[in-house]
Amino acid sequence: MDFSRRNIFTKASLVGASALASYSQTTFAQTSPKSLFEVPQVTIPIVGSSSVFPVRRIYCIGRNYEAHAREMGSDPTREPPFFFQKPTDAIQFVPIGQTVNHPYPSLTKNYHHEIELVAVLSKGGRNIPVEKALDYVYGYAIGLDMTRRDLQRAMGNEKKPWEIGKSFDHSAPIGPIHPVEKIGHFKNGAIWLKVNGVIKQEANLAQMIWSVAEQISQLSSAFEMMPGDIIYSGTPENVGPVVVGDTLEGHIDGLPNISLKVV
Ligand code: MN
Repeated sequence: MDFSRRNIFTKASLVGASALASYSQTTFAQTSPKSLFEVPQVTIPIVGSSSVFPVRRIYCIGRNYEAHAREMGSDPTREPPFFFQKPTDAIQFVPIGQTVNHPYPSLTKNYHHEIELVAVLSKGGRNIPVEKALDYVYGYAIGLDMTRRDLQRAMGNEKKPWEIGKSFDHSAPIGPIHPVEKIGHFKNGAIWLKVNGVIKQEANLAQMIWSVAEQISQLSSAFEMMPGDIIYSGTPENVGPVVVGDTLEGHIDGLPNISLKVV
């Protein structure tokens, strides 16, 4: 239809432009540039598809459930949303029905679970209105924003960046992506996390302070959103520590559970 035709033309003109750029570069240098080594593209499998989802950026919102904001020591009613990023290769893929070994990270003595709904985008834009924001979502996954809480707090206390507490290797476990066309959008439903079979976190997605649509809209005012961007949409209250040997099981109504063993 109209839209797909327009897509084809847009893609064709992009290909044309990049071919032109590399042609003139080649002519000038007499040789095509070659990467020193391969850097793998991080991808996430898509349920029911032979395609995979290429990850461009990982955004995370902080303190997005009221009771969790309180337990982190802030007043959620007065705070605008804030975001941080994890490196793309922090992704640890967890297949459906498997318990994946998750390495306990270095440096921390207080390693925390944060169960979260993850929205993944297949369209980009700037200043996206809230009413249109869900049109940019390709699908959803269940994920964990694993956190070296002691390091995060220590850096926060010193007004230094959080990276060491949030943005480390394997800190973003995630299940496969479920396309919106098959599963719809997630505006409410139970979200919980068990450690060794005992419920630790339990809430409803409807308790988010900033909805997924609002998060996309807010992010797009600060950054140009692009296809491949994914958003960890915040964790409910009762985050807590895990130790080596613990098994984590996470749940969101409508998605298969995610399971990890800390090793
Ligand atoms: Mn989080």
